[in-house]
Amino acid sequence: MYEYLVERIYRNLPKVFKPVKVNNKQILGEIVYNVLLHIPREIKKKYGLTNYLMLFKYAEIFSDKHFNELKGKDSITVVKFVINNLDKIRKYYNEKVNEDYKENIKILEEIENVLNRKIEINTYTVKDEFLYNLKIKLMELVKYEYVVKNEMKEAFNKVPEFPVRVDKNKIIDMFLKTKDHSLLTVRIVIDKPFRTYCPICKFFVNGSEYLYYKAFPDDYYAYWFANLVKHYRHEHIKYYDLTWRYYCYAEKNKEYMKCKNHDEYKIIVNNRAKRQIIRAIVKDDNLSVTGKINLIKAVFKLQHNDEKTIELANKMIKKLQKT
Ligand SMILES: [Zn+2]
Repeated sequence: MYEYLVERIYRNLPKVFKPVKVNNKQILGEIVYNVLLHIPREIKKKYGLTNYLMLFKYAEIFSDKHFNELKGKDSITVVKFVINNLDKIRKYYNEKVNEDYKENIKILEEIENVLNRKIEINTYTVKDEFLYNLKIKLMELVKYEYVVKNEMKEAFNKVPEFPVRVDKNKIIDMFLKTKDHSLLTVRIVIDKPFRTYCPICKFFVNGSEYLYYKAFPDDYYAYWFANLVKHYRHEHIKYYDLTWRYYCYAEKNKEYMKCKNHDEYKIIVNNRAKRQIIRAIVKDDNLSVTGKINLIKAVFKLQHNDEKTIELANKMIKKLQKT
């Protein structure tokens, strides 16, 4: 049966399988998978093997059943064997589905009981497929609970979404293991974050280790403001970085050329940044009035404020205190 196919498919197998002896289940599975992959469409159709995503599963189940028979044989024998047993592949799969179905139902019911809610999911499938899909469903249920402390709480009306990396996969694995409902709620404690909120980006932006640990370890607002100045200088404007990196650019920067040295230029740029930040703070809807006042006041903890910055800060603090 299908003798012409055997040769054709063997020719199409990846080089690593030509020739190779079957000495473990994994190799067998991979050969079977590649055979299934290369069967012509109309034959796939005839045997109900058209679902590409399932081919690997079919190959795995088939290999499980016939490993003992095919152990030690070479790949051409495996190709022949698979082609001659195409009618068994779906049969094995369906048997496995029937076998796993009851267990899937049991797992699902147990989880629905813990969660006290129904989960819409196909239970008529092999168990690992079911578990994979279940995991995706559960991932949608993971909730983040932000616990905000101290300065952070008073600084915001409502703390904007905080970028955190949480491995949902791990949480779900733990949940499936322990069936502990509370695991689906992840508590994230935000005390004094390294990243600081930028009222221009409306987002928490990268922090500075030096400013955080060395310059302002005990003054959150001063750290926050100083970090925003740094962030502004490097992220919101391009001309500062370009000026100190490239002389051809610096040459055309009249303001820079008037300065005695680079530090003097940095002070000018920083003061401009401070004023832009103060204006953005005043306008920001996420920050509370207390937060705005404290954050603007923090500018006085920073060095080298010029007249214009001091004047603007005082004016805005007064204005905010009246509201
Ligand atoms: Zn920003």
